[in-house]
Amino acid sequence: MKILLVSPRTPDTFWSFAHVLRFVAKKAAFPPLGLLTVAAMLPREWELRLVDLNVRRLTDADVRWADWVFLSAMIVHQESVREIVQRCAGLGRPIIAGGPLFTTGHEGFPGIPHFVLGEAEEIMPQVVADLLAGTLAPIYRAPSFPALAQTPVPRWDLIRVRDYVTMAAQFSRGCPFDCEFCDIIVMNGRVPRTKSPEQFVGELEALRLRGWKDMVFVVDDNFIGNKARTRALLHALIAWRERTKPQMGFLTEASINLADDADLLDLMVRAGFRKVFVGIETPSAASLEECRKLQNKGRDLVAAVQVLQRAGLEVMGGFIVGFDSDTGDIFKQQFDFIQRSGVVTAMVGLLTALPQTRLYQRLKREDRLLAASGGDNTAATLNFRPKLNREYLENGYRELMRRLYEPRNYYRRIRVFLKNYEVNGGRLHLSQSDIAAFIKSFWLLGVWHRGRFAYWWFSVTTLLRRPRQFRVAIELAIIGHHFRCVAARL
Ligand code: SF4
Repeated sequence: MKILLVSPRTPDTFWSFAHVLRFVAKKAAFPPLGLLTVAAMLPREWELRLVDLNVRRLTDADVRWADWVFLSAMIVHQESVREIVQRCAGLGRPIIAGGPLFTTGHEGFPGIPHFVLGEAEEIMPQVVADLLAGTLAPIYRAPSFPALAQTPVPRWDLIRVRDYVTMAAQFSRGCPFDCEFCDIIVMNGRVPRTKSPEQFVGELEALRLRGWKDMVFVVDDNFIGNKARTRALLHALIAWRERTKPQMGFLTEASINLADDADLLDLMVRAGFRKVFVGIETPSAASLEECRKLQNKGRDLVAAVQVLQRAGLEVMGGFIVGFDSDTGDIFKQQFDFIQRSGVVTAMVGLLTALPQTRLYQRLKREDRLLAASGGDNTAATLNFRPKLNREYLENGYRELMRRLYEPRNYYRRIRVFLKNYEVNGGRLHLSQSDIAAFIKSFWLLGVWHRGRFAYWWFSVTTLLRRPRQFRVAIELAIIGHHFRCVAARL
């Protein structure tokens, strides 16, 4: 059996990091972890080929080679998916599709004959058996949230890891919280399920043996969803680090209550975590209450961010505007908060009603839905009727993004962060690729681009005053270029 696994093209959003790639001579930000994991569930004797459209083109020869095309996509991939479906139909190759896009809305893709909906672990044995028997059903739906003990090590051999900026691995799925807008809890549930520490360390070891020496994104919905299991993993990671001395760092996603647990924070940093993405959402207490983000409510969010930064974690933040409880000054509130907290990579989006979420159901009941969500959190168009004036919100959002990533404001924010940030390690250490990226940044950001004077002032003063933080400072300057490009096209 010949299986072609296709990962769709990711549009130019925050998470594509498309404008960073030229600095680091890579083709894509992250590998298609879901597809690589599904590939590992297929019989070893089957012939597999993986095409990631973020890395290379899909050719007719690729499609003709295959008996079946496996397609995995998130909501943001829908445009690319439609193109792939058309190509495969034209060449007479059937598709089996899975992933969040189809789990929450397969009805929108009548051209796809077969779907695997929900998490694949418990369904794939039946899919494989039916493929072999020639009796494939139109829909396979996961009967429950599977235990992750059965999740295999991803088939890293199907990609060239050096094409990617960051590798990906997953320890847990699910999150105990109940934010109204969140589709993760719809897809993965509210009881966090984890792999065993040995299983997860085994996955990292597989990456280490493939020569990976850079960042790994631990793509959990909430890395600290089950703190006891996370703690056990961190002890195992620290022991593995001491044993094998891997040159890997980690980033992950966690809820803000991480700031309440000094011991857990210390373990994370010792285990090699360098960055954490936190859903901060809004400084408005009324809006936090409205969306039931109660873990963020009633606390000093700036102080919480600073606790994480002082421990040695760079905090990336998710922010939302457009809640019913937002007042007219929400853009000023968000701007002031983000500048003050030193959340350098602030991913601000308009509130979106994603399919099957509680927010979606409520807006539907209130007859306020306008369109399906495209899943792009940089879309400057609301898909529901807001309480504030719609045009005011959409224009205010564009303006907020431009202000946040305007060079002067951006470098000011990095300075706030560096003041709080406890850098790990001793003297400044630069790899060859760091040096190459820096030289490109000197040329592009320091010569060609608007904001070059702010860039030079920032670089020179950081090098003189905070030499140990120079690496992270220039890395953030490069990332700022990506966000500026995204903000400019809104
Ligand atoms: S904390 Fe994050 S993952 Fe958990 S429910 Fe809220 S938005 Fe979803």
